[in-house]
Formats: sequence, C-alpha cells, structure tokens
Amino acid sequence: MYEHLFSPLDLGFTTIKNRMLMGSMHTGLEEEKGGLHRLAAYFAERAKGGVGLMVTGGVAPNRQGWLMPFSAKMTSSSEARRHQLVTNAVHEHDSKICMQILHAGRYAAHPFLVAPSAIQAPISPFKPWKMSGRLIRATISDFAACAAYAREAGYDGIEIMGSEGYLINQFVAPRTNHRTDEWGGDLAGRLRFPTEIMKAVRAKVGHDFIVIFRVSMLDLVENGSTWEEVVTLAKAIEAAGATMINTGIGWHEARVPTIATLVPRGAYTWVTQRLMGEVNIPLITSNRINTPEKAEEIIASGMANMVSMARPFLADPYFPEKARTGKSHLINTCIGCNQACLDHVFARKEPSCLVNPRACRETILPLAEKSTAAHKKIAVVGAGPAGLSAATELAARGHEVYLYDSAAEIGGQFNIAKRIPGKEEFYETLRYYKNLITETGVHLHLNTRVSAQDLIGAQFKEVILATGVVPRNLTVEGIDHPKVVSYIDAILGHKPIGKKVAIIGAGGIGFDTAIKLTAPEAHTEVAAYLSEWGVDINYQNRGGLMKPVHENTPRQVWILQRTKGKMGNKLGKTTGWAHRIALKSRGVKMLDDVAYHKIDDSGLHVTIHGEPQILDVDQVVICAGQEPLRELLEPLLAAGISVQMIGGAKEAGELDAKRAIEEGILVQ
Ligand code: FAD
Ligand code: NAP
Ligand code: SF4
Repeated sequence: MYEHLFSPLDLGFTTIKNRMLMGSMHTGLEEEKGGLHRLAAYFAERAKGGVGLMVTGGVAPNRQGWLMPFSAKMTSSSEARRHQLVTNAVHEHDSKICMQILHAGRYAAHPFLVAPSAIQAPISPFKPWKMSGRLIRATISDFAACAAYAREAGYDGIEIMGSEGYLINQFVAPRTNHRTDEWGGDLAGRLRFPTEIMKAVRAKVGHDFIVIFRVSMLDLVENGSTWEEVVTLAKAIEAAGATMINTGIGWHEARVPTIATLVPRGAYTWVTQRLMGEVNIPLITSNRINTPEKAEEIIASGMANMVSMARPFLADPYFPEKARTGKSHLINTCIGCNQACLDHVFARKEPSCLVNPRACRETILPLAEKSTAAHKKIAVVGAGPAGLSAATELAARGHEVYLYDSAAEIGGQFNIAKRIPGKEEFYETLRYYKNLITETGVHLHLNTRVSAQDLIGAQFKEVILATGVVPRNLTVEGIDHPKVVSYIDAILGHKPIGKKVAIIGAGGIGFDTAIKLTAPEAHTEVAAYLSEWGVDINYQNRGGLMKPVHENTPRQVWILQRTKGKMGNKLGKTTGWAHRIALKSRGVKMLDDVAYHKIDDSGLHVTIHGEPQILDVDQVVICAGQEPLRELLEPLLAAGISVQMIGGAKEAGELDAKRAIEEGILVQ
C-alpha cells in the first residue's frame, strides 16, 4: 500500500526513508522561555509518527532578518547547542530534520527591516531600508554561518527560504527589486543574491549536508517572476549545490487563497510538475495535500519526487505510520481551516490544531492512556464535535462510554457545515470519529433522543452534556411568514430557495450560507478554482496571474448585519478576506448598519444607515446566531448526577468547533 510514498529517496550521501516531508511551520515555541523542550517533544512525536524529513519554523540568520522582534535566530555556537535538544529527540526516532533559514526582508514586523529596494509591502506597517552592497555581502555570509551553526546543532540539513515574498524572493522579482547595480536590473543581477547564498552555504557546510532551496514557483503577485525566470533560477540553484528544491506558492501579500480549505486538494502540484525534468535534483511539491491517497498519486504519477505536508502533521503526527500499517482510516485529517494554526500565529497566540488540540502542547496534554483507576460508566449526550471528542477521549482512558444522538448520523452541525462548497473536508473529521468510535469501543446509539429520565433510569452517575445549540429565534414582525427559512433548511435544501435572498446575520454561518447560495456548479474542481481566482495555468504573465473568470451565480443575495462597520469581522484572519472577495465577485451585496422591521409578501422591510427600504426578496434566511440547548441540565442535577457541559451546550457565544473539540478532550 502506498508503495511510491514509502519508497526511500536516495540523496547520495544519505537516504530519506519515505517521500513525506513535514513542511516548515512557525510554532512560537522557539522563542518561548523553555520552549525548546516543548519543541523537542513536538518534533519527537512527529518523528515517532514516521515522517521521513521535517523542516523547522524559520530561523533568522541575523537580527535584521527577524520576522518579529526577538524571533528565533542562529548566530552563535551557544544558540546552536540549545537546538541539540530538538535534533537528538528527532534522531532517537529514526527521522531527519532540517532547519529553515528565513530572512523576512520587507515582511519583517520591526522597524529595522531591509530589502533590495525601499518599497513598502502592502501588508507591512514599515518601509524597509534599501540594502547597501556591503550589507548584501554580509547577509550572504550570515546565511552561510547560520547553515554551519545548524550543522553544529545536529540538524541533517537546512532549508533556504526563497519564496512566499521574503527577502530572497524580493531580490528575484522585479516587483520589489528596482536596483540598477550588480544585485538588480537584468535577470542575472536579480538572481545573483540567491545564487551567491546557495554557493556560500554549500562551501561552508560541505557536500554531505542536505540543502533544500524553496523556490517561489508561482508568485501570484503582479510583476512577479515569469516561468522562464523560475526555470533559470532553479537551474542556477542546482548548479550552486542545492540537494533538493521545494515549491513555494504565492507571496503573503497575494490576494489568492493558496492553502485554505476552499482550495482543492493538490491544486498546485501542476506547478512543480512543470519543473520536473528541467533540473536533475529531487523536487518537492506542496499546498493542500492532506491524505496518503493524494500523496501517493502525486509520487506515483511522477509529478514530484517528494510531498510536503505541514498542517496535516499538526492534525495527526502519526499520519505516516497509520498509512504504512493499513490504518489510514484512523488518520485525523487536516481540514485546512487555519483556525487554530495560522490564525493563532497571526494573532500572536500559541498555535495548535482545531481537530487535534494536543498539537504543540505535547508536554502539557499527553495522549490518553488506559488508566488503572476507577473504570466508570459515562453517558455522553450529543455526537457533535464536542461529544465525539469527549466520548472517544474517555473511552481511550478506559471508561465505559455510551454516546447518544437524536440524529441518524454522528457529527451535529458538522453535517451542515460539510455541505458548504469548499468545506468538503469536514467529511474527513466525521470519517475519523466514526472509525475512532469503533476503535475505542464507544457504545454508539443514534436515532436516540435521550431525556433526563432515560439517563436516570439507566443509572448513569456521570453525564457529559454535549447537546449543542439551536438557532436563535428572532422577534421581528412576520418571522412566521413563509418567506422565512432557517439556515439549516437553506443549506440542506429542505426548502426551495428563490432567485433573490436576504440573509440576516453576517457571522460565519451567514457567510457560509451566502457562499452556498451563490456557488456556481463544480466549483471545487482545480481548473474552476484556478480560473475563479485568476491563476493562469498557462503562465502567460509575470507572477502567473490572469483576469479572474466568474461563472454566473444562481441568485442575487443580500447579507446583512446590524453592527456598523466591516462585514464578517469575526471571520478568521487568514480566510475572512477570501470569503469577502469571493462574495463580492459573485455580486453579493453586503450591508452593515441595518435594522430589521418586518417580513411580508413584499419582502424584508429594513432601514439601512437610517434609510427605510424594502428588499424585494423571495426568501429571508435567518443566520442570527444560536442559543445553548441544555434542557437536560436541571433534572439531571436535581437527581444528583454529576454533569459536565461542553461545546455549545456550555456556551453558545463564540462557539466554534475548535472550542468544542478542545473541551471534549479536557473532560475530567
Ligand atoms: P452540535 O454540533 O450542535 O451537536 C450537538 C448534538 O447533540 C447534535 O447532533 C444533536 O442532535 C444532539 N442532541 C441534542 N440534544 C440531544 C438529546 N437530548 N439527545 C440526543 N442527542 C441530542 N465551526 C468551526 O469551527 N469552523 C467552521 O468552519 C464552521 N463552519 C460551520 C458552518 C456551518 C454551516 C455551521 C452550521 C456550523 C459551522 N461551525 C464551524 C460551527 C460548528 O459546527 C459548531 O461550533 C460545533 O458543531 C458545535 O459542536 P457541539 O458538539 O457543541 O454541538
Ligand atoms: P455569529 O458568528 O455569532 O454571528 C451571528 C450573526 O447574527 C452576527 O452577524 C450578528 O450580527 C447577528 N445577530 C445576532 N443576534 C441577532 C439578532 N437578535 N437579530 C439579528 N441579528 C442578530 O454566529 P453564527 O454565524 O451562527 O456562527 C456560529 C459559530 O460558528 C460562530 O461562533 C463561528 O465562529 C462558527 N463558525 C465559524 C466559521 C468559520 O469559517 N470559521 C463558519 C461558520 C461558523 P449583528 O449583531 O451585527 O446583527
Ligand atoms: Fe489543519 Fe485546521 Fe488543524 Fe490548522 S487548525 S492544522 S488548518 S485542521
């Protein structure tokens, strides 16, 4: 099974045991006091899980290269020695690890930032200082020194971060390099900085050390590189001594979502495939590869030599081992939501994973083990994300667990979420829990709406209430009018939806409902996604961009909120902007500062910024938040039963699956 994925990759001086690379992710643990112990445990667990090679989060070669003040850097032997904790932990489990060297250039979030030219990034608060020729040469030496320290630290190699719009990428692209000296101008000038870094690094570390160079193969910004320039750079990097080339897709300032869940699986592998045969060193592909099937297909069909997956290893450190031993049905799949990983990093919060709250907290939340302590009989009511998480966790600890849900299938609201175009990955979480229920021996009872009396009668002493939420009832006049539809009926298609629709509420569910109601057919296919976002598979323009092609949307939608200001303000930092762009391109009217007065045959009566209006719509879909469902609480407590509430049942405000699943594994 997965024979290509598990075939070793011979690099001459060393061999990688399989074709899986855990891509670089910033965890913030590098910078935390005592964080290297936690980082070592984090990498050790993934090494134990069977991955062939890992890449650390970015480490700066000097202070100017810091992404943020006091980011990780490696500029001395003492800093290198501290990393031995990490490298030893990885080597104990027969895996390999490379340290990524990242110079942020104009993306740095500190005022001492430098770049080839003094051009401010649209996503940065600071204008960079233009680098002098002397500073450029010193920076090249810093990269080489940093690589040597990485070797001293016990790393098996390094990755030079040459993509995503960071410093090296800034030298390569005419967008950011306006120099006229030897470090800019024509292509040879713009490629000098990356090539000199590669040469200097190789000279310093010798030939038996992995050096991956991450090339920006598709910039997705105006005035980025042409395809011919990408090929020329790759050849120059190979000639300068790189061991492998990794794929970088899109600058951080690009307005194209490249890793969100709405991006179809493997949507960018074609870019790496285009480079296959142009160079003779192995190529690594990346972006939205999250299952062993997809990874195997890529390697088997020769689209790349190795597959980089980053977030899938947060979701499940044991991904490779499960795939190798015929247990891929138990892989906890990354759903591409970014909610606990990237959104946390951008908010300067400790990252973790929505589907695996243990990620990055390996020393704090160790895996559940069967306990020899009292073996209890516990009821979990509700098989939504919270109940599923709690039931499987308690069963893994050795308790006898009974899980009840009134629905015919597990999943709670995930069964609605999975029907949103671009959220098909939610099916994977349900597949995972379905199999985990069997694996852990949870007694599952579907189509069973339990009452407090049922639980008391069955003599449960402990009950976990995970009964979730119900949609909020509004008191607007005409709320019982036939035009009014709940988001559940609208998304599940239980009621017919006409050509003109108003959505009350612009939270996550309001946006999702708008996406569903305006989605053109077949939107998840790679070609349709690429054309909707203006990615040119023929690479005719610099940066690989073209004019987006918008299919006709099936209906006119208005999305409304009472609050003044930005719509969808609470959506994720890394995904909200893409939802807003998608809806705008489908002609959705987004209106803030709205008061709702009445719904009748003529439509929805509102005032918008104080102006009365009637929206002549066929349906009004209510997405106005939810209330907790906890009708069992009082009678259970009155009967002296110990009750723990989790997920929506505990608190409906600010509820999401991240909180629900986390509260599930934290049950006592
Ligand atoms: P629920 O999912 O509501 O599950 C409660 C379960 O309890 C239900 O299955 C119900 O049948 C059962 N139940 C209730 N009473 C009883 C009883 N007496 N007996 C037996 N069973 C009972 N969250 C995110 O984090 N990211 C997203 O991208 C996201 N997208 C969403 C998109 C949509 C369209 C929707 C609707 C929700 C989305 N959510 C998202 C929210 C997420 O699904 C919820 O936060 C999560 O499902 C809450 O989990 P829960 O287990 O607390 O409750
Ligand atoms: P929500 O995010 O709380 O949004 C509710 C919306 O309803 C708000 O826009 C609010 O805006 C409006 N509203 C609240 N009370 C109202 C009232 N009495 N009358 C009219 N409008 C009212 O809730 P949700 O959209 O139902 O989502 C539920 C949870 O699921 C959220 O916490 C969210 O995090 C999660 N979710 C996440 C995603 C995601 O992609 N990450 C997707 C879907 C859901 P005003 O008060 O301004 O009118
Ligand atoms: Fe994947 Fe979401 Fe977990 Fe991030 S938080 S690793 S995107 S499942």
